[in-house]
Amino acid sequence: MSPVLQIPELKADALIHGFSTMELGSVGLTHAKDPEAVRESRRRFAAALNLDPDTLTVAGAVHGAQVARVDAPAESIQGVDALITDRPGIALFATYADCYPIVLWDPKHRAAGLVHAGWRGTEAHVATAALAAMAKEFGTQPEDVKAGIGPGICGNCYEVGADVAERFDPAFVNQSSGERYLLDLAAANTAQLNAAGVSDVFNLDLCTKESEALPSHRRDPDGRRFGAIVALR
Ligand SMILES: [Zn+2]
Repeated sequence: MSPVLQIPELKADALIHGFSTMELGSVGLTHAKDPEAVRESRRRFAAALNLDPDTLTVAGAVHGAQVARVDAPAESIQGVDALITDRPGIALFATYADCYPIVLWDPKHRAAGLVHAGWRGTEAHVATAALAAMAKEFGTQPEDVKAGIGPGICGNCYEVGADVAERFDPAFVNQSSGERYLLDLAAANTAQLNAAGVSDVFNLDLCTKESEALPSHRRDPDGRRFGAIVALR
């Protein structure tokens, strides 16, 4: 596996995007035993995409649906689960371990977004909140947008209780054993984007829990994270 994964359908001259694997090391600072190693992993990830590591702008995700427009690099923006920009030279960045990174790319207005969607963010419609923010800020029209869903825990692995399952359309929920349910967050986010007018949703279809190359909170709750970067050229 390549150290940086990309969604083939999102490869474009004007868009840079990627998802780091464990080959680059954990990029999650919050529970890191060795923060300097994490910073070095982040620098290597940015460099692998030919980006200046100093332009990394982190979404300080809180599992909500708040969106921030980024006009200049900032070390971190707290309390938001989506970042949007139309400025080249900013590397939108967030970290994940089972939650889904979602990339939004508007080639017409040369604008992009990066979303962090776990079950809470999905329930709060964070992906379409980012889309609406791009419409307001940049004039983005959903039909022009290409969306990409990166690695995350799949609908066969993501077991939840009834308290979580009942918050979602039954179309995205399957019965597991006993009082447990399986929730398909990628399908739920795809459906939300489709309903908002984005027909081009491309799913990398890679499960974090099933892939040793990626960290999974459900498999190993050790604080390791992979990263997603979205930037404009
Ligand atoms: Zn899986």
